[in-house]
Amino acid sequence: MKLALIGFGQAGGKIVDKFIEYDRATESGFVTGAIAVNSASVDLQGLEHVPEDNQVLIGQSRVKGHGVGADNELGAEIAEADVGEIQSTLDKIPVHEIDAFLVVAGMGGGTGSGGAPVLAKHLKRLYTAPVFGLGVLPGTDEGGIYTLNAARSFQTFVREVDNLLVFDNDSWRQTGESVGSGYDRINEEIVERFGMLFAAGEVSAGDAVGESVVDSSEIINTLSGGGVSTIGYATESVETPNAGLLSRFLGGNDGIDEMSATNRITSLVRKATLGRLTLPCDVSSAERALVVTGGPPSHLNRKGIERGRSWLEEETGSMEVRGGDFPDPAGEEVEATVLLSGISEVPRVKQLQQVAIEAQDTTAEIQRQSQDDLAELVDTGEELEALF
Ligand code: GDP
Repeated sequence: MKLALIGFGQAGGKIVDKFIEYDRATESGFVTGAIAVNSASVDLQGLEHVPEDNQVLIGQSRVKGHGVGADNELGAEIAEADVGEIQSTLDKIPVHEIDAFLVVAGMGGGTGSGGAPVLAKHLKRLYTAPVFGLGVLPGTDEGGIYTLNAARSFQTFVREVDNLLVFDNDSWRQTGESVGSGYDRINEEIVERFGMLFAAGEVSAGDAVGESVVDSSEIINTLSGGGVSTIGYATESVETPNAGLLSRFLGGNDGIDEMSATNRITSLVRKATLGRLTLPCDVSSAERALVVTGGPPSHLNRKGIERGRSWLEEETGSMEVRGGDFPDPAGEEVEATVLLSGISEVPRVKQLQQVAIEAQDTTAEIQRQSQDDLAELVDTGEELEALF
């Protein structure tokens, strides 16, 4: 699937940077172009793969390159004011070649949290290509302001995109890990999962040795219809005997036992679905799904995919479950990626909203109280007079 990537804010920029790295390393070719948008110049300087010409510093007149300090209303305002500058940078990307836009942002901060929904709205007004979002939820230990930001951004971002793919930092952190190295590892996990999905839709007819290769339209159809999506992923290393001569003697499948290949795929699809999702949810609440199995072609078979697909149909109760291959002749693993779209039973989002509402009420109460306290501190009644 050919994408124009837009990384908004620090997390968004770093994740887009990693997508470019992944795309090059795997020679996938799903990144048609990428830009990074930020209000903090130092965050842009940290990027390694988004070309400098494709970086936009917004809000300079308001925040002078210092960022918005987790104020996502300000983030939204400066994005709105400078959307023309973002557009000029986007014009450097051949957008007529893309299948979709992907706007990536951490939802707990200020620039990405506020700006990403503004840009999504702008893109939808201007282009016919679908606009997808990739939103990262903050960890529960990040505090009230980040939770409130994320809950408000979530509401707005879902409304403005054709689908919001979500990754929840909270489900993925490990105890004892520093924030920096934690994010590096988490970003790898993000890019591996979403990258495989996007790369799958980019296998050209020439490479299509699999029986039913996933097409980018299948990914788009699973995502369109709106709502929120999550991804599951599972992998298993496999032995790949020398292909070629041997494979011809053994009937083209490198001597791999069909039955165990089928069973491996079915069990990987189950593991991907029932294991850790990018956003944990009740699987039965998904409206649509897509199963992609990747790996050396000799290990992929139609029966495995079909079984995995019909198992997922039962599990989701949905009739709209698509499936396909992502053959990778050089691969040493069989992988299964499951995209669950239109999910509605998501306890983490409900919890986030609850904490956000409490944080909002507490903040309002503290503000009221502190105004009263200040008035009490300063006011001396009739005894002292202010200068003017
Ligand atoms: P912004 O620059 O104002 O948009 O804010 P940030 O992107 O720095 O932070 C927003 C949120 O994103 C934070 O609350 C974190 O939850 C998360 N975050 C920050 N950096 C990273 C990162 O590198 N990876 C991931 N997965 N999340 C991050």
